[in-house]
Amino acid sequence: MFNEADRMDGKDEKTLKKTAIVDIDNTLWQFSDAFYLELKKINADFPTPDRWCTRDIWEGYCSFEAFIAAIHRIHRRQDSDSYRPYAEARDFLLSLRTHGFHIIIASHRTPETSPPTERWLARHGLPYDELHLSLDKTVLFPRADVVVDDSPPTLEKAVEHGLLATGLLFPWNRAYACNGLRLFDNLNEVLDCILKSS
Ligand SMILES: [Mg+2]
Repeated sequence: MFNEADRMDGKDEKTLKKTAIVDIDNTLWQFSDAFYLELKKINADFPTPDRWCTRDIWEGYCSFEAFIAAIHRIHRRQDSDSYRPYAEARDFLLSLRTHGFHIIIASHRTPETSPPTERWLARHGLPYDELHLSLDKTVLFPRADVVVDDSPPTLEKAVEHGLLATGLLFPWNRAYACNGLRLFDNLNEVLDCILKSS
């Protein structure tokens, strides 16, 4: 699958790489477990991740500002010893590369978290071609073929762009699976889906 911009460039399709946009949190590692530990410091009654079925899980437990600050605390120390990628994350990215994908790691986080994020990716041998840290990864979609993410709004926008929208299945995206999203229990199954679709 190739996008119109590449065709407009007049390149031979056989020489063009497919582009995969790959999320970090809850795609390459279990962010939700680390996040829960942070949220429990704010309010011990915070529900466990298996009950995170809506986007407003902070409601009744903490302020939105405290919720966002907890996310930033994790991202600022991404390269902590305790934040480890999924066991199959490296092979997932290596397989994408072997099959000719240009890999853009794209995470919803602020640019100043780039150093710990880059150190984490390097430390765990996670290969990629570009790193995109911003609050709107959809700007990448016009040059993408595949989006791997867990966020329902992000995946639904990928579907709107005609892209393969896939990722790991969680309580917060389960209800959206019928909207064209391809959600699976592990990255090996996500990889199978991508390779069979490309
Ligand atoms: Mg994510």
